[in-house]
Amino acid sequence: MKFLQVYAVVDSNYRLLWVGGEWDEFALQNAARNALANTVLSTSLMAHIAGEETRALTAQMIDTVLKQKRPLRLEYRCDSPSLARKFQLTIQPMKDNRALLVHDLRDAWHFSTPLNLWRYDPAAPDCKCSFCGNVRFANASDWTTCDEIGDRHPTVVTYEVCAGCRAEVAKAIEEVLIGTSANSAVEGGNIER
Ligand SMILES: [Zn+2]
Repeated sequence: MKFLQVYAVVDSNYRLLWVGGEWDEFALQNAARNALANTVLSTSLMAHIAGEETRALTAQMIDTVLKQKRPLRLEYRCDSPSLARKFQLTIQPMKDNRALLVHDLRDAWHFSTPLNLWRYDPAAPDCKCSFCGNVRFANASDWTTCDEIGDRHPTVVTYEVCAGCRAEVAKAIEEVLIGTSANSAVEGGNIER
């Protein structure tokens, strides 16, 4: 498994101040040529995220970290047509109300049948979850995992968030909030400097 780590630093308006790690390689692997490091700096992170709810949840996670000054962790999938990839996102508070986003590749495996290559179109009838990659076909109510979709994967998708991932994001945010209150109960206040 190839090691992969991607970093980004954003301010409280989600503006990209710095990107690092294997950002360019990752963007190229994902055919996101317009997302190369030189061109994304000082743009909004939100301009590079597809799907309204995905943007809203990402903003909510960053806001929570900045407010509580505690890190948040979330596992998600970001697959390529041939490779299933499991990542961990860590959002870390930094000074001056900035946040560091670290994406760590934790696991990867080849699909038994590669997926069709897909592109984003907000008007597409089929839908993909931004966080687990599962697909909800037009007129279906259930989500199907990419591990079982193979060459039935739609070639055009819109992005939403499935109920399972919505719950995972809520849990990750809740852990930050609970951690803060548990911390202040034990320590009697802010233990940072
Ligand atoms: Zn999902």
